[in-house]
Amino acid sequence: EEVPLHGFMPRAVDLFGDRPALVFLNATFTYAELFDKVKRCANALRSLGVKEGSRVAIQLPNIPQTVIAFHGAAMAGAEVVMTNPLYTLREIEHQWSDAECDFAFVADFIWEETIEPNRSKLRPKTYIVAHIPDYLRFPLNLLAPFKLARQSPKRYAKVKTGDGVHEFKPLVEGASNAPISMDRGMDEIAVLQYTGGTTGLSKGAVLSHRNLSCNAQQIHAWFPDVDPGHEVNLICLPLFHVFGLSVGMNWSIWAGSKMVLVPNPRDIPALVKAITKHKVTLFPGVPALFNAINHFPGVESLDMTSVKSCFSGSAPIPRDVQEKFEKLTKSTIIEGFGMSETSPVTHVNPLKGLRKIGMVGVPMSNTLAKIVDAEDDTKELGVGEEGELLVQGPQVMRGYWKCDDINAEVLKGGWMHTGDLASMDEDGFFKIVGRKKDMINCSGLKVFPDEVDDVLMAHPAILEAATIGVPDESRGETVKSFIVLKEGQTLTPEEIEKYARENLAAYKIPRQIEFLEELPKSSVMKILRRELRDREIAKNA
Ligand code: ATP
Ligand code: MG
Repeated sequence: EEVPLHGFMPRAVDLFGDRPALVFLNATFTYAELFDKVKRCANALRSLGVKEGSRVAIQLPNIPQTVIAFHGAAMAGAEVVMTNPLYTLREIEHQWSDAECDFAFVADFIWEETIEPNRSKLRPKTYIVAHIPDYLRFPLNLLAPFKLARQSPKRYAKVKTGDGVHEFKPLVEGASNAPISMDRGMDEIAVLQYTGGTTGLSKGAVLSHRNLSCNAQQIHAWFPDVDPGHEVNLICLPLFHVFGLSVGMNWSIWAGSKMVLVPNPRDIPALVKAITKHKVTLFPGVPALFNAINHFPGVESLDMTSVKSCFSGSAPIPRDVQEKFEKLTKSTIIEGFGMSETSPVTHVNPLKGLRKIGMVGVPMSNTLAKIVDAEDDTKELGVGEEGELLVQGPQVMRGYWKCDDINAEVLKGGWMHTGDLASMDEDGFFKIVGRKKDMINCSGLKVFPDEVDDVLMAHPAILEAATIGVPDESRGETVKSFIVLKEGQTLTPEEIEKYARENLAAYKIPRQIEFLEELPKSSVMKILRRELRDREIAKNA
């Protein structure tokens, strides 16, 4: 259906008006109540000078204001730039000037620590500051190891308004809830979605209303046994990232699901409490998160059987992690593939019928995919051959913001070049082999670090593993693995090597092992091989 994002809330109210839309702490809003706030937010933005095509940044954790700000901005005709709340001044400066944002929603702690002291360096002239409930203040917690996710709360002073600074609550509550007339079409820009930043500086993927609307509908069409108006979707993946945005928020609004917002996914006690208390049925997550829940003390005694379907994406899920979590919750984890550039989902495993563990499934409706030679994209490869994955569909971005030079390459021939290496089997299922950039070259033999990590993580004493290539005089590169052991376990490098030798060809075995307390992860909990590689370079410099 041709429904732009600003049509999502009105449609939800027509279909599910009195159903619960969102729960947060002790508050629940129905779709009608949420829509009322969204309209007020849109009118408030208009009164501050937001016009069709204005660019509005949203730098908030997962709280109700984030959903209201996003759909309010869409209703005001703005283009939204979701910004990571953990960004430092340097990163915010870059993103907001790159995206040309004149307005920004920010959390109070960001306002006080980063924005207010540096206003002259930042492009936006107008700020809307949202308060974060006291015990959720976590400026640093998101980056802390899981164990330390709960730190003592810090209090923030009341925001001084005036001079372009507004407080979210009084501003929105004081605005009219009259409908806004507007005619932004399906092909106009809805969001500049900055990529995960796993491999380098993140780029803004230009996503249209069609891109994001289609993806929510493609996801919905994939799950025929989802009960519209009656599902409970756990939104713990950050909404500034495209996975949480689409599979969490936008799909929920399309399906009339109840959104359970969890601001800090690393706070595992709060997360499992949200699952049991609100009887979550749908859970979009990432492998590191399923793994952390598996190892949460006392998790076996919790009843998490309300969960029916989980979606894993953003990185490969180790078989061991998947099986343990499915046993624990009696749910099914469906692995899929996506990227910021594709709104994000392109491939998913079927929920019923043939599901292949270790593969990302088949292309969704209206999505085409092919595998081409990684060096020559005119050469299409056949079944079982490894090459670069190319995709085409209504969810594929218009291009990277202000990057016409790379766009020509990345979208050559109308195909999105994913930069990921993959293969397709005889049933049409795709397997992601790894990123082109992560491939290790040992004397001309290719080693894919995901495969090595998968083997290492199946060892009963190993909690996490990450493998990279390090320079080696005779072989060009050699394999090095970083290992985090489970609590109370010991293991020597020799034991690990012996175990690896039993499961991997000789050239893939890690020649160097280093033990760490925790692996470096991005704010969407992807393991940062880039950072491990940088540390190696620094060590040897
Ligand atoms: P950046 O592009 O800024 O370096 P990023 O690629 O991690 O960061 P995202 O758009 O969040 O940013 O992630 C998309 C990437 O995640 C894909 O290109 C792919 O490498 C990886 N990915 C997603 N799903 C899977 C999966 N199921 N298995 C393996 N890799 C996956
Ligand atoms: Mg990427």
